[in-house]
Amino acid sequence: MNGPFLARALPRVFTWSVLACAFAAGHALAANDETSVSPVVKINEAAKTTPITATPLRGSLTMLSGSGGNITVLDSPEGKLMVDAGIAVSQPRVEQALDAISHRPIRYLIDTHYHWDHTDGNRWVSKAGATIVATAGTVKRVSTSTRVDFWKATFPPLPAGAIPSEVLTSNRTYHFGGQTVEVRLLVPSHTDTDLYVFFREANVASLGDLFWNGVYPFIDNQNGGGIDGMIKGDDAILAQLDDDVILVPGHGEVGTKKQLQAFRDMLVGIRANVAALKAQGKSEDEVVAARPTAKWDDVYGHFVINPEFFTRIVYEGLK
Ligand SMILES: [Zn+2]
Repeated sequence: MNGPFLARALPRVFTWSVLACAFAAGHALAANDETSVSPVVKINEAAKTTPITATPLRGSLTMLSGSGGNITVLDSPEGKLMVDAGIAVSQPRVEQALDAISHRPIRYLIDTHYHWDHTDGNRWVSKAGATIVATAGTVKRVSTSTRVDFWKATFPPLPAGAIPSEVLTSNRTYHFGGQTVEVRLLVPSHTDTDLYVFFREANVASLGDLFWNGVYPFIDNQNGGGIDGMIKGDDAILAQLDDDVILVPGHGEVGTKKQLQAFRDMLVGIRANVAALKAQGKSEDEVVAARPTAKWDDVYGHFVINPEFFTRIVYEGLK
């Protein structure tokens, strides 16, 4: 059974519109009202009730959506391995989705990067007995308060037990549940904490926020990310995967290598347009007004990061 086809057959889940509204509102607030509520608060509120959708991938791998970033689950007689843990308030619904796969315990959790919509669930997954794996950068950022101005949010440190205990400073390969699980570091790119996970036998890769399928991405300029790093990271991933790979994006539906290539080409095209305008001496607002993303807006401009927001991210991320 081919996962992406199943995924395409599923209707777009309710979560996306809720989150899109929250993020769009948050961006307007970020520009106009420093005292207003962070979109992070609204997203956490939405996550309290959003249902979790399970999409079968290949082998015994499943994608769970509806708790912030997408979650990948490998089920096996040895237990489960997860990539990313979503937002903590989704715990009852994520647990229900995990139990629907099997009643085996979670043995490992790999955090793709430090952002709360991927690591907040570390709190309960660690209590369930899992070993948490992440880059040294993620460990550093979740161990202290981290500010993201674009989200009007300061993320408090995770509690001690929820901080990853297996710290990676270079690529590492695990053998778990009948899969060769290759953890590959890509920093800096979306942040300065990123990695992605390749399940060799299943030919499935969990890309974290290096890939937002069909939508403009957030890039965390303030914490080591940037448009150039994103492009470099995606080029590295594209060079390492074959055409038949199934991709779990950080946000959006299950994807193909072709879709990742199109996403990467969009990043390159918009980077070039914004850089050319910036080189002419145009201000950030003038560059936004010139609509350097116009060619891609029909495809990518309908979600959390709208065309104006993405233009500002690219402009501010150019070195
Ligand atoms: Zn992220």
